[in-house]
Amino acid sequence: MIKHLINGKKVESRETFESLNPANNETVAEVARGGEAEINAAVQAAKEAFPGWAGKPAAERAKLMHRLGELITQNVPELAEMETRDTGQVIGQTKKALVPRAADNFHFFAELAKHMDGESYQSDTGHLNYTMWNPVGVCALISPWNVPFMTATWKTAPCLALGNTAVLKMSELSPMTADRLGELALEAGIPAGVFNIVHGYGAETGEPLVRHPDVRSISFTGSTVTGNRIVQQAGLKKFSMELGGKSPFIVFDDADYERALDAAVFMIFSNNGERCTAGSRILVQRGIYDKFVADFTARASRLSVGDPLDPNTIVGPMISRDHQKKVMHYIELGRKEGARITFGGGTPDLPAHLKNGNWVQPTVFADVDNRMKIAQDEIFGPVPCLIPFATEEDALRIANDTQYGLSSYVWTESTGRALRMGKGVEAGMVFINSQNVRDLRQPFGGVKASGTGREGNHYSFEVFAEAKNVCVSY
Ligand code: NAD
Repeated sequence: MIKHLINGKKVESRETFESLNPANNETVAEVARGGEAEINAAVQAAKEAFPGWAGKPAAERAKLMHRLGELITQNVPELAEMETRDTGQVIGQTKKALVPRAADNFHFFAELAKHMDGESYQSDTGHLNYTMWNPVGVCALISPWNVPFMTATWKTAPCLALGNTAVLKMSELSPMTADRLGELALEAGIPAGVFNIVHGYGAETGEPLVRHPDVRSISFTGSTVTGNRIVQQAGLKKFSMELGGKSPFIVFDDADYERALDAAVFMIFSNNGERCTAGSRILVQRGIYDKFVADFTARASRLSVGDPLDPNTIVGPMISRDHQKKVMHYIELGRKEGARITFGGGTPDLPAHLKNGNWVQPTVFADVDNRMKIAQDEIFGPVPCLIPFATEEDALRIANDTQYGLSSYVWTESTGRALRMGKGVEAGMVFINSQNVRDLRQPFGGVKASGTGREGNHYSFEVFAEAKNVCVSY
């Protein structure tokens, strides 16, 4: 059974829920179902642990963070398989990219925390001002179900390295790897109470956590709807909101065609299309549009769909039956809206042991009008919308005609156009002639309905540290 981790101890609740394997809907684990009582206990433990943890030299905390990173690295095969069983994310991704990246998160923020340099200003009125960075206190870390281990560590690492204590709430759909993270944190020597985990549903567990008066900061990753709700419920706290997206992937007729095609396929079908930064609206210039639709469709039709534990699988199942139904609903809607399906549209034919999974065939919609619902709503599955455009101005107008602004991708060999698009696209991140390649020093986050705040590098100070000014008269 997966239990909570509160004050260094595994704790049960009276009730439990099941975590299911998306590939066959068999139970992977019984999970303790937390509520207000468990949240209160976890926040209290984090509050009591805070002074001791914050008072440690940064280098000592960093040593423990590095140790945790090493333990993750030593356990990559076990963690990757667990994540794949719990989420349906394919093993090729969890083993090679997502779990190793979690270890990097700890190593990166361990080093950053040792160099939290402030500024100083000497004025000619005889005053010296200097800034210092202090930890915030107890932080609520809330994770979604897509890439949960990577996301949990992306929050936990800066939070703890900078001297805060934490209560982590995973999605009820993907609790397993966080449970191992808690165990590894204790094994690394992180003191009891510094890192707590409470499992449960959003309304029962998430709400009491974000409302709790002793929680000083919230780092949330999830949907725009939930993000809005939390901002209204939480009261005066620090926030980072990493929310949904409908990112444009723009291919001009002067692009390196084959590289753009490869990246377009990768950015919508990897991670089963359940990716916040997915290039889900593929805008293609008229001159190459018909060829691109044909070539993209051919690539989509060759993707191997099936058992996520098979290293050759590219597209696995959707996280839950409800989410599968949501994606299928959008496929029906796209048909009704008049978009043209060039591949997919149903469920794949799979062997008997996978029949009960949450499957959706990779599905390509061509000739999409950007005002259609399938182009405006985040489908969060392997369902791209291909949209033709005529000129650079058209491309920019269509790219920005969305409530979201998380990521974007621009493919062109023209330097001037690349720079103009880089400036004009309304998004937190623009990748030029590149798929989404993360450098942990870059600010990660979105604009408009995709969120507020940035995480990564010193940008994580926004949510996990307070700047204090000290003014000395001399
Ligand atoms: P969700 O909003 O349904 O849930 C996210 C988390 O919030 C879960 O742990 C859930 O239990 C919790 N929650 C729900 N209601 C709550 C409440 N009232 N108070 C506190 N917590 C509550 O999102 P999801 O379906 O798990 O994840 C998919 C979404 O996450 C997509 O929209 C995706 O784009 C987004 N996402 C964004 C990023 C990013 O970095 N911008 C990264 C990954 C996923």
